Amino acid sequence: MPETYGGYKRISDDPYDLRAGIERQEEDIRAEVVRQGSAAERIVWYSENDTSAFKKKRITVSDPLGNVYDAWRVIRPVWHQALHDLRTRKITTLVVWDLDRLARDPRDLEDAIEAVERYGARIVSATASAVDLATEGGQMQARMMIIMANKSSADTARRVKRWHAGVAKTGAPVGGRRPFGFEADRVTHNAREAELVRRAAQEVIDGVSLHEIARRWEAEGVPTVLGGPWRHTSVRQILRNPRLAGWRTYKGEVMTDDAGGPLSGTWDPILDEDTFVRVRTVLAPSESGPIARRGARHQLLSGIVRCGRCTGKMYAQAIKNGRFNYACRGRTDLPHVVSVAGKPVDEMITDLLLKRLRRVALERPAASFEREGELVQIRSQITELMGEFSSRRLTGSVVFPQVQRLERERDLLQAEKDRFLAATAGPEVRPMSLEEWKGLDLDVRRAIAERNLEAVLVKPASGKGGGFDMERIDPVWRPSQADGTSSRQ
Ligand SMILES: [Zn+2]
Repeated sequence: MPETYGGYKRISDDPYDLRAGIERQEEDIRAEVVRQGSAAERIVWYSENDTSAFKKKRITVSDPLGNVYDAWRVIRPVWHQALHDLRTRKITTLVVWDLDRLARDPRDLEDAIEAVERYGARIVSATASAVDLATEGGQMQARMMIIMANKSSADTARRVKRWHAGVAKTGAPVGGRRPFGFEADRVTHNAREAELVRRAAQEVIDGVSLHEIARRWEAEGVPTVLGGPWRHTSVRQILRNPRLAGWRTYKGEVMTDDAGGPLSGTWDPILDEDTFVRVRTVLAPSESGPIARRGARHQLLSGIVRCGRCTGKMYAQAIKNGRFNYACRGRTDLPHVVSVAGKPVDEMITDLLLKRLRRVALERPAASFEREGELVQIRSQITELMGEFSSRRLTGSVVFPQVQRLERERDLLQAEKDRFLAATAGPEVRPMSLEEWKGLDLDVRRAIAERNLEAVLVKPASGKGGGFDMERIDPVWRPSQADGTSSRQ
């Protein structure tokens, strides 16, 4: 029985789809049929519209037991006709332009594989003939390509959505809330607010609390966007907004470009990317978190000082004449009282801390991610490959495995960068004089102490009485970054 060829082409009405036009598909399919030794005039053509290729509709189906249920399927009458013709041998070979044109829904591919395996049909790609659905390896490759093609469909869908979102945004911003730091056009910086944001971001990284920033803005008479008083929650919301880094969001999520990087908006960023990521890291809720925010954190080492008997955290307690102690009142199962004069401990630890800052500063890692260049390069390679695929210079079977490999590399590098940024979020470790130290906010000094000290153990008093006994104080330093262990979770 002679071979009868069918040619399957897909008409795209997706304005974002830059892939081969219908003439090009026809031309390639004809060429393939001729190459296989048949006459191009006898091809039975199947033309399908692209939009239906991955949109699902609800239909009623029945399972092999006869149960009827609702199912969501891609309805492709032309495709089903082609399959039917293969099964009934009206045609014996179906030539498709590329495998991702053949099927987007994995079910469709399985139907195609079944036609090949059980009905002796042949399905041939005009551009990637190496993929043979009759072999297990070919089936595997086809399945993988469908998954990748689905991903790019989803990307296209996202782009379209993004475009609509963009139009909606430029349409009428009436009633939409102006983001703090920007004017009503959401593009122009509000100079004063942008400066406040930059300052607050650095302060948060340095350890100043959101409460403190809210308090300051309130005191400086900075108006909120909606009027009303400043709260730490609104400061948090402002500082965590990806728009500050120039990134676009859609429904609260940062949109990504084809290479998986954040998609930039049309406005200039208020914060550079690294600063923004560090702020996010500091503001992210974490279990180990900063030390307990109990009432008495009015002193440098509240909660950092720990009891030598029970290792519990010690907090400042005011005593007369403006002096204070760090004290542990014991536990019910281990009654004891350990307390130490606060001021001399603070002075002693401050002295040690400033010496340590001078030493550690020499070992401090660079403030920017060293492998940034590689990351940028991988992203642009991915974009380039997807571009080659889009413009049809390379086929999916060539592009997708490479893209997958690059995506893995990119994800590893990105994770490394995230760890780096998290480890370097925190007060700057630099040598400073005692005067400079004293000029810093308490929050900042506490953050520096916390970053360097695991704890300060206080042994119970020896009973001799008398003055301050330095022997009782035992600082436990955190490893510095240069030791290779991150000191902050
Ligand atoms: Zn204790």
